[in-house]
Parts: sequence; structure tokens; C-alpha cells
Amino acid sequence: MSDIFTNQTLTNLIQADTFQETLYNIYIHQPTLNIIEKYWATWYIYMQNDTLATGLMFFLLHEFMYFFRCLPWFIIDQIPYFRRWKLQPTKIPTAKEQFFCLKSVLLSHFLVEAIPIWTFHPMCQKLGITIAVPFPNWLLMAKEITLFFILEDIWHYWLHRLFHYSYFYKYIHKQHHRYAAPFGLVAEYAHPIETMSLGFGTVGMPIFYVMYTGRLHLFTLCCWITLRLFQAVDAHSGYDFPWSLNKFMPFWAGAEHHDLHHHYFIGNYASSFRWWDYYMDTEAGPEAKLEREERMKLKALKKVKVKKH
Ligand SMILES: [Zn+2]
Ligand SMILES: [Zn+2]
Repeated sequence: MSDIFTNQTLTNLIQADTFQETLYNIYIHQPTLNIIEKYWATWYIYMQNDTLATGLMFFLLHEFMYFFRCLPWFIIDQIPYFRRWKLQPTKIPTAKEQFFCLKSVLLSHFLVEAIPIWTFHPMCQKLGITIAVPFPNWLLMAKEITLFFILEDIWHYWLHRLFHYSYFYKYIHKQHHRYAAPFGLVAEYAHPIETMSLGFGTVGMPIFYVMYTGRLHLFTLCCWITLRLFQAVDAHSGYDFPWSLNKFMPFWAGAEHHDLHHHYFIGNYASSFRWWDYYMDTEAGPEAKLEREERMKLKALKKVKVKKH
């Protein structure tokens, strides 16, 4: 029994032995659905078990999108032409380093992230996250995803900042800082506690949202998680191109922002946007440090002047 259609007779009519036949039936009985909706509905009806269908889909989506996004960066690292845009051009990750990171990330995916993924669908049902077709309109999805980016960034900024304090850094966050010049795969190379707690920003914010509004579609969540994965991998890529997103959206953090964090270990704690580090005066790098010192000097001078008066 699937929640994909509210009409059970329709589900029974579409149900078939193979994926191809199910898809064919969807084309016959639901011609108005778009191609993604057709494949989405076919997957759920063919699987005949929504929990398994959601769990497997999320796990595969995560694995595919993560490694699919890491692959171009791995290739770019092998081509000297691209060095001119590498943020730390003398530090090219070796194949051995990348392989070590890959093994660790894969192990963590299977051990740490597999369990929450398998319990995800029952939780979605309880919260009211729907899987039904058709999907919500794209404008609503875009608004929701933008909100998730903003909320996740707040969570990430403060928790990441906390992770740089004494024991939190020593026992948890230090693992992620193994690479002072990051590369794509480093995005999810972290201690399990860090993966779970920082990852809460990605999964937990939509949960708060659906608890408040009472509506959210699972497909929106899929798009959001994919975009957030892309953001995390790109931020660790180590390259800043003239066509990078931060050149068109100056408040977008991108690799330039996060590379400085890995290089200097302090400052630039946010994930997607630059505003938190700017307003909290935690920007990383020698330029930001100089500006901070200048500001402090001016402040001190003003104080002296006020005292003299
Ligand atoms: Zn850090
Ligand atoms: Zn990082």
C-alpha cells in the first residue's frame, strides 16, 4: 500500500510486475504528470513499501549526488591548467590522500548515516511530509529551499564556532581539519558526532518547518539535500573561478570563504552565506585580521580622545 495516490483503486490499476510496466501504466492513467513525477510515482508503486522506497532512495541519492559532485573536482585536480584558480596552488592533494578520505567517508556513510536514513519515512509520515503526486509548484519549493539555506547557515555558524572551542575541537572537530587545503571529498570527512550534529541543520530545519506549517513535500526535501550537498562539496573544492557563484552573489560564501577557514583554522564559520561572519566580526584570513586591528586601533584612539575631553 502506497501513499502516492489517495485513490487506492488507481494504485491497484497501475501496479505491475516490472518497473517498466508500472511506468507504462502511469503514462496511460496519469498523462498529466511531468516526467519526474511519473518516475517518482512508479518507484513508490513498484516498491510496494514506502519505508523501503524512501530509505533506499535517500541513501542512493546521497551517495550518487555526493560522489557525482566530487568527481569533477578530482579530475580538475589532475589538470595543471586549472591551478591558476586553485586557492592554495602549492597544495595539490595526492591520490593517496584522496583515497584515504574516500574510504573514511564511505565507512561513515554506511555506519553513521545508514540508520537515520532507514527510519526516515515513518518519521516523515508522523510529521506530515507527503510523497503524493503531483509535486507542489516550483515557486513554493524555491521559497522553502531558500529558507532552509538561511536556517541551516545560522545553525552551522554557531555550532561550528562552538566546535572550535577547546575540547570540542580537540576531540571532535579536529578530524575535519586534517586537511589545511581541502578538496571536494573533505566535505563529509568528519567525526560521527560532528556529522550528526552539523547534519541536524540540514534535516532538522525542514522538520521544524513542517511542524510549524504542517506541509512539506518529500521531493522538496530531496532537492534541498542535493543542493546542500553541492554547496558543501563546492565549498571544499579548493578552487575559486571567475564564474563561481560568489562572483554573482557576493553574499554567497563558496570555496574562497571556506578555504580560508581550513587554511587559518579560525574565522569563517558559516556554511552558505557571508553575513554571519561579517556581522559577528569573525572573518578569516590576513586581510580580515588587518581590518579588525585597524578598527580596534581607531576604537582605542576614540576612547583616549573622549577621556582627554
Ligand atoms: Zn572548523
Ligand atoms: Zn570544512
